[in-house]
Amino acid sequence: MSKAKHLIDEDALVYCPIRGMAVDVETCLGCRRLEEYDLDSRWPYVMCRVEDDQPEQRAGSG
Ligand code: SF4
Repeated sequence: MSKAKHLIDEDALVYCPIRGMAVDVETCLGCRRLEEYDLDSRWPYVMCRVEDDQPEQRAGSG
């Protein structure tokens, strides 16, 4: 298990390694993988847990 930091872009989108696509940051706020986030910083980010060697189902999970 590792943690990965993902920057939030100006459209409030974050690249999600689990879904393999950009998701709205609101999705992250409701995601059980979310460990930490900072929306107020100059470079807002989310930090989430990603399994190293156990890829999760890509669609419809989380
Ligand atoms: S917090 Fe959840 S939805 Fe957001 S990027 Fe991480 S795994 Fe994807």
